[in-house]
Amino acid sequence: MSRPQMLVVAAALGLAFSQTVLAAPAAALAGNPLATASTLPFHYPAFDKIKDEHFLPAYAEGMRQQLKEIDVIANNKKPATFDNTIVAMEKSGALLTRVQTTFGNLQGANTNDKLDAIDSEMSPKLAAHGDAIYLNPKLYARVKALYDKRDSLKLDAESKHLLERYHTDFVRAGAKLSAADKEKLKAINGVIATLQTTFTQNVLKETNASALVVDTREELAGMSDAEIDAAAAAAKAKGKDGKFLVALVNTSGQPPLAVLKNRAVRSRLMAVSLARGANGGEFDNRQVVLKIAKARAEKATLLGYENYAAYSLEDQTAHDTGAVNKLLGELAKPAVNNARKEAADLQAVVDADKGGFKIEAGDWAYYTDKVRAQRFAFDENQLKPYFELDNVLINGVFYAATKLYGITFKERKDLPVYNPDVRVFDVFDADGKQLAIFIADMYARSNKQGGAWMNEYISQSTLLGTKSVVANHLNIPKPPAGEPTLLTYDEVKTAFHEFGHALHGMFSNVKYPRFSGTSVPRDFVEYPSQVNEMWAVWPEVLANYAKHYKTGAPMPKELLDKVIASKKFNQGFMTTEYLAASLLDQRWHQLTPAQIPTDVLAFEAQSLKDMGVDFAPVPPRYRTTYFSHSFSGGYSAGYYAYLWSEKLDADTVEWFKEKGGLKRENGDWFRAKLLSRGGTDDAMNLFHNFRGRDPVIEPLLERRGLTGK
Ligand SMILES: [Zn+2]
Repeated sequence: MSRPQMLVVAAALGLAFSQTVLAAPAAALAGNPLATASTLPFHYPAFDKIKDEHFLPAYAEGMRQQLKEIDVIANNKKPATFDNTIVAMEKSGALLTRVQTTFGNLQGANTNDKLDAIDSEMSPKLAAHGDAIYLNPKLYARVKALYDKRDSLKLDAESKHLLERYHTDFVRAGAKLSAADKEKLKAINGVIATLQTTFTQNVLKETNASALVVDTREELAGMSDAEIDAAAAAAKAKGKDGKFLVALVNTSGQPPLAVLKNRAVRSRLMAVSLARGANGGEFDNRQVVLKIAKARAEKATLLGYENYAAYSLEDQTAHDTGAVNKLLGELAKPAVNNARKEAADLQAVVDADKGGFKIEAGDWAYYTDKVRAQRFAFDENQLKPYFELDNVLINGVFYAATKLYGITFKERKDLPVYNPDVRVFDVFDADGKQLAIFIADMYARSNKQGGAWMNEYISQSTLLGTKSVVANHLNIPKPPAGEPTLLTYDEVKTAFHEFGHALHGMFSNVKYPRFSGTSVPRDFVEYPSQVNEMWAVWPEVLANYAKHYKTGAPMPKELLDKVIASKKFNQGFMTTEYLAASLLDQRWHQLTPAQIPTDVLAFEAQSLKDMGVDFAPVPPRYRTTYFSHSFSGGYSAGYYAYLWSEKLDADTVEWFKEKGGLKRENGDWFRAKLLSRGGTDDAMNLFHNFRGRDPVIEPLLERRGLTGK
């Protein structure tokens, strides 16, 4: 099963800003390393030279330069041509793009109070900057003039698609509104930007503040000695000497719940996790949620849509709320039925142990592991020695990519990094030419956003002559010094997943930056990454990387078979927690301004009930008050996208299997027809060209055990 992971796409404004068009460094930026393109290979950021204080002046100058460039385009006396308008916009904003991608990525992966403050200051300014471009009437008039005669311009397919895309971007940004309504929209966009930043920062701070503190080693029985030592060290670092601190991850479920033997501690851990953002303290997100939901609903109304979800979905492959509601609604009942059956299995174990209690959310993972151990005769922890990080990355993730696409990797230590744990690899194409630079930032840190994601520092574009610099970010707990990093099965899947996004970025072979790599609809972007998860358990790949970290012995065949057999186990839980979050995300964004409730938790409870996913032992994967996908911007009204993408993913996995699996010819076809094409064509056309037909849903239902059998 694929785990929802966050993907950060670089260009936050939608306009693609170029990276390499060199403007003379302004005097204001003397000595600022962001002023010009980095001279390191592929314009890799000079992390050793970039200081926090460089960002604000570079942002200011970057916005100033781009507005000047846009002004020249909009006021050109010559009639609009594709080159003097659309291509010129593609080339504009080089400095701003550089600042924005570098800052955005560092703030997500390695933040501090200064960067958080810059983020808060810049969010509304960047929203206003985007509006100054998209709501410029002279500029829109030129785009529209070209759009209206697009069939007679003799453009190649990618260029024509770019023109259409620009027109859509302008219209959706409000270019057709009256002058008065444009001012209203600008004000709303500023409010939304500020609130989203507040929400994101509250989530991280509340997650850190909510870490569970226990008094004794015994209470953490079930965790390994190394994990308990790490908890002691974490407590000490927070001034709680002698105690133990269990850090939280951003999902409702917490990894230690699977192993903690003490039921009271499990219950406390679950409770602090579920209460995040609604504790009434400094980082309470309830009012922030209400304000975001209201502002987005008002924006949608202003733009002529029934609600924000309708506005958001129109630009996705799903297209409308009806299609999304139908998919989620149809799956909810069978998923919850499966979860109830699983709960009965767990209860049977509790009863056999004479536990004398009813399964609650905090017990689920622990008893699931017990049932899994009984049914498949293995314990998840038996796998970990075979999933050592270097083996997984080099002999697993990279190996699969070499087999499929012929690409190879070479680690380099000469480029600067923002944290000593970050690793850098040159990526070479089958012909030996360098294709990209890959950055692997695998370990959890308290100043790093939760979850896992991919982002790009530099996007590929033949127009700009750039190749990709992409990064993967995971949150694998760092072991004490001298201990190996052993991954869980889920973490292994996540490593393959994020690398699927990285491939989408690195294989990009497009002209325009607007279409580079992962610049595709949000409900399509998770598709290539989910497909890449299949190689994690592909026998030939597994045999190459799943080796005992001490002895080098291969993972025993029967353990391997059990891993594969157990893949369908716990699907009821996983589908239900995901659907509950997806449905919440839709509910919050299918409201008109007048329908915004006053009580966040009551609305959440009622929504789960209405949709039949109010099964307490399986809480939503994210509750409203820490649901960053939904309220920080990236996946608002779009969390369903993982499942939507999974339909394409499951169908594609079938294709690979039909064609013999891990073979160059299969990889090359997928790369040529899909991974290299970015957003240059309608997403479903790309799929059709790859698969030879439209997608079917049966493989997804089969995979998730939702066929009703
Ligand atoms: Zn993803």
